[in-house]
Amino acid sequence: MTPKTFKIKSFGCQMNVYDGERMSELLAAQGMAAAADGEDADLVVLNTCHIREKAAEKAYSDIGRLRRDDGTKPLIALAGCVAQAEGAEARRRSQMIDIVVGPQAYHRLPEMVAEASRGARPVDTDMPAISKFDAMPQRRRANPSSFLTVQEGCDKFCTYCVVPYTRGAEISRPFDDILSEANALADAGAREIVLLGQNVNAWSHEDLGLADLIRALATIDGLERIRYTTSHPADMTDELIAAHGEVDKLMPYLHLPVQSGSNRILRAMNRSHSAETYLAILEKVRSARPDIALSGDFIVGFPGETDEDFEATLNIVDEVRYASAYSFKYSARPGTPAAVMEDQIPREIMEDRLQRLQERINLHQLAFNRSKVGVDTRILIERAGKLPGQMIGRSPWLQSVHVETDARPGDLVDVTLVAAGPNSIAGALRQKVAA
Ligand code: SAM
Ligand code: SF4
Repeated sequence: MTPKTFKIKSFGCQMNVYDGERMSELLAAQGMAAAADGEDADLVVLNTCHIREKAAEKAYSDIGRLRRDDGTKPLIALAGCVAQAEGAEARRRSQMIDIVVGPQAYHRLPEMVAEASRGARPVDTDMPAISKFDAMPQRRRANPSSFLTVQEGCDKFCTYCVVPYTRGAEISRPFDDILSEANALADAGAREIVLLGQNVNAWSHEDLGLADLIRALATIDGLERIRYTTSHPADMTDELIAAHGEVDKLMPYLHLPVQSGSNRILRAMNRSHSAETYLAILEKVRSARPDIALSGDFIVGFPGETDEDFEATLNIVDEVRYASAYSFKYSARPGTPAAVMEDQIPREIMEDRLQRLQERINLHQLAFNRSKVGVDTRILIERAGKLPGQMIGRSPWLQSVHVETDARPGDLVDVTLVAAGPNSIAGALRQKVAA
C-alpha cells in the first residue's frame, strides 16, 4: 500500500535537520502529508547520526518501538549516517527496516518508497557525482532562522571521526544555487540563514570563498542575519575573519572547535592545528569583531589522554572564555584509526573529565551571559515561551532571550537584556522593529 502520511525524525547535527526538512518537502511534493504530532504515520523516516556509538544505537532502539500493538508496523526508512555506514548490513540487525538511504541519495526517497510499497527492499548508499540538490523541489517554507547546507563531506580525516566515511569527500554547492535557495527562503519568510557544512568555511566555488558568499547573501532584502557552522581552524581565512568586522548582517558568533588543549593529543587526532595556532586565529577574530561570542567542541578521553593533557584542555577553556561549548566523551568508531590506538581511556575517567570540563565551560557561559546584562540589543523572535505572553528569540550572540511581547516568530524586536542565567537571558521590550 502506498503511504499517505509520513513522519521524519532527525537525530544529530544541524545538517541532519536540514536534510530532514528537504526529505519532508520531497515527500510532500509527491502528495504525502506530514502526520500530526502523536498521530500514527504510514511511513517513518529515521534520519540517523553515527558520530558516537550512543547516537547510532539510538536508531535501532527507536526502530523496535515502531511496532504497533496490533503487530503491524509503518513502512520504515533508515536514512542518514547510520544508513550510509551500515548499508544492507542494517537490515541484518533489524528486519523491520524497509528502505536504507544514505545522506547523498535521499533525492531518490519517493522512488524508493514506491518500490518498498510494492514489497521491494531498496538500499541506496551511493555518492553520485550529480548533486541531490538538483533533484529537489524549490523551497516554499522557511523558519525565521533557516538552515541552508552549502558544503558537505570532509577531507580532514581526524583520527576519531566517521564523517569522511559517512558523508564522503568535501564538496561545495555552486554559488548561484545557494543564492537562489537563500532568495527562496527569504521570500518564504526567513530573516536569518545559517549556512551549514561539515567544514563550512572550506566552501569554495571557482575563485570564491565563504567570505564572498556571505557578502553576496548580505545583499538579499528581508534577510537580516547570517551565520555559519561548523568551521575548521585550518580554513579560517583572513578574508573570512575580515568579514566579521565588515558585514553588519554577519552575526558576532563563531563556532570553531579545537577538540583538545594538548598539542600531543591534537597531533594524535590529526587536527592540523596546535593550541597556539588556534589561539592566534581567535586573537585575529577578536580584533576584527571584539564582541564576538566564541564556541567550540571538545573531546575528552581520546586514547592516551593523560591528566596533564586534560589540564591543558581546561586551560584553553579558561584562556578563550567560551560563550558556549559542546563537549563529548570520546567514542571509538569502527573503521577509524583512533579505535585501534593503544591506551583507550576507562569510562569512569572519561566521565569525571567530562563533568569537570562542563563545569568549567558553564562558568564561562554564565559569565558571558552576565556580561550582556544592561545591553540594548535586537533579538529575532523564533517561538512562544512557556509563560503566557512570553516569546523566545535569539540575541546576535546566539543566546536564548525571553521577553514579554505580542511580536510573532520572524519579528525583530529591540530589548534591553536585564537578567542572565546559564542558559537564557531575560529581555525587557523596547520596541518592535518594522519589517
Ligand atoms: N567538522 C567539525 C570540526 O572538525 O570541528 C565537526 C563536525 S563533527 C560532526 C561534530 C563534533 O563531534 C566534533 O567536533 C567532535 O567534537 C565530535 N566527535 C566527532 N567524532 C567523535 C568521536 N568519535 N567521539 C566523540 N566525539 C566526536
Ligand atoms: Fe570529523 Fe575532523 Fe572532518 Fe570535523 S574536520 S568532520 S571532526 S574529520
